[in-house]
Amino acid sequence: MSLYTGKILKVDLTTRQNEIIPLNQNWAEKFIGGKGLGFRYLIEELSPRTDPLSQENIIIFMTGPFAGTNIPSSSRTGIVTKSPATGTILDSHMGGTFAAELKFAGFDGIVISGRADHPVYLCICDQAIELKDASGVWGKGIYDSEALIEKELGNKKYKKALIGQAGENLIPFACIGTESYRQAGRGGAGAVMGSKNLKAVAVKGTGAVEVKDKKGFTRLYNEAYKEVLANEDNQWVMEEGTPFLVEPISEMGIIPVNNYTRGQLPDSHRISSKKVNKWTRHHRACFSCPLGCGKLTRTKTGMVEGPEYETLSVGGSNCGIERAEPIIRFNELCDDFGLDSISTGNVIGFAMEMTETGLHDFQIKFGQEDEYLKMPGEITCKKPGRGELLALGVKKLSDRVGGSEFAMEVKGLEFPGYDPRGAYGMGLAYATSDRGACHLRAFPAWDAGSYEIEPNVDVVVDQNQRFALKDSATICIFNHGFQVAEITGFLSAGTGKNFTEDEIYLAGERIWNLGRVFNIASGFSGKDDYLPERIHKEGLQNGPHKGKPFVKGDFAEMLRLYYEKRGWDENGVPTEETLERLGLLSVKDRFLNRGKQ
Ligand code: SF4
Repeated sequence: MSLYTGKILKVDLTTRQNEIIPLNQNWAEKFIGGKGLGFRYLIEELSPRTDPLSQENIIIFMTGPFAGTNIPSSSRTGIVTKSPATGTILDSHMGGTFAAELKFAGFDGIVISGRADHPVYLCICDQAIELKDASGVWGKGIYDSEALIEKELGNKKYKKALIGQAGENLIPFACIGTESYRQAGRGGAGAVMGSKNLKAVAVKGTGAVEVKDKKGFTRLYNEAYKEVLANEDNQWVMEEGTPFLVEPISEMGIIPVNNYTRGQLPDSHRISSKKVNKWTRHHRACFSCPLGCGKLTRTKTGMVEGPEYETLSVGGSNCGIERAEPIIRFNELCDDFGLDSISTGNVIGFAMEMTETGLHDFQIKFGQEDEYLKMPGEITCKKPGRGELLALGVKKLSDRVGGSEFAMEVKGLEFPGYDPRGAYGMGLAYATSDRGACHLRAFPAWDAGSYEIEPNVDVVVDQNQRFALKDSATICIFNHGFQVAEITGFLSAGTGKNFTEDEIYLAGERIWNLGRVFNIASGFSGKDDYLPERIHKEGLQNGPHKGKPFVKGDFAEMLRLYYEKRGWDENGVPTEETLERLGLLSVKDRFLNRGKQ
């Protein structure tokens, strides 16, 4: 089928064998690529009860059908595995050019299993596959490792996905970096690579992506290119990047401040895009993206892309840090060590509150910039004392030292930068997300009234499918105008098959349910769709939502309605009828049996 290369590379690190298998075309049609196709391959290969850091876990790098074409912002890489942070299924995505290069090398995806007996990196040059010794870069950060691997390979054209020391040390919120400044951040995929002694994957290819109906494809491209530049919602992405969000989100009263005790930052301009972008040296874009949301920022010690909104908020104001300079340095440290800056900021904010309230002395308080900047290094090396404790992540840390009512997490994944007390829909989105508290499974912050019940449920149900679809077509979430119609049009022209918008929208629902089936088989149920007690018991201390907790009864009603509209039973399990409608019955039968192993 055109658009796809038709090949999947399987690499077993234990036996050092690799195999090229044909892409399952039926799955490609039903699950598209990226997240969806990655989920389908993971489910085929992995028992749901697998320990995420055991050699039995697998990690998949999956491209989308449009990767390597000129379709705007369509070449993100979907990384799929079982998460060491949550134990759920995990898809985490990175921009850059890795996916396009993998397609040029002739592969739609790579499935990596086993564990190497010493540090290695996987080198792919078209169909030549080699495991190379990584002892020389093991123990080094992402910036140096990338440069050293590039030097060893003697070719700048290799695109790399790699881990820093955090992944090597199995920190459950270690990320995977690419091109120094972009990350697949959430859920600890970096630790899965570390557990496999896999430092990096480097890929270079000379092929091209085939398109069936070239004329039709070009016509659609011309329309899409004009649309992407004209789309009103894309303007802030191009001009300011995500730091733009700081001021409006603060104004809405849902920016996290001091471990989610306040929702407004009176001096938000101090960490806003106007401030941060003063240091922007140039804009950077992923493969085939005219938006170029990446803002390369000059620092005292080098360069960093960002900081993004999430780092400025969860990694900044949430720790009481209200100056841009230390947040930029924090961002740089997290990127180099290979830490997810959201989870890192969240767990630091928690430790600060524990110290301030006298529940546990971590010797760090809100706003202490010097101590704050020591934390990424202490966490990464699990420094005895607070470093090794914070390296557990906020859920396990609170289980150990107390404070679980204000450990801001769902299923073990730390909250991102939008407080649900001022946006009920965000709460439902966090609680029901397949990988724990996540703002990228639905983003209803400004789509429905703050405290509305049914309208917020409807937005979350609809967006779960649309976001799953975009993550499967590997279209960037910031390309706002590119939706179901565009995906359908390009898939049809590119493959020569006539897809309908209904079929494609349904694929989003199928993918969302597939993740749920895996999580149920892994031992999750409706009781894991919760919000932290703080959200229900305390109001925010300032801003428009001051003093108003998220009423527990309202949350229970939203969850009930959500399950009903999803076609799930009262325990959050997809019903037989739902799975049959989505063509997933066979998966469920086989899969739940596997779950009992
Ligand atoms: S909008 Fe930004 S993150 Fe998205 S594809 Fe473009 S450059 Fe990459």
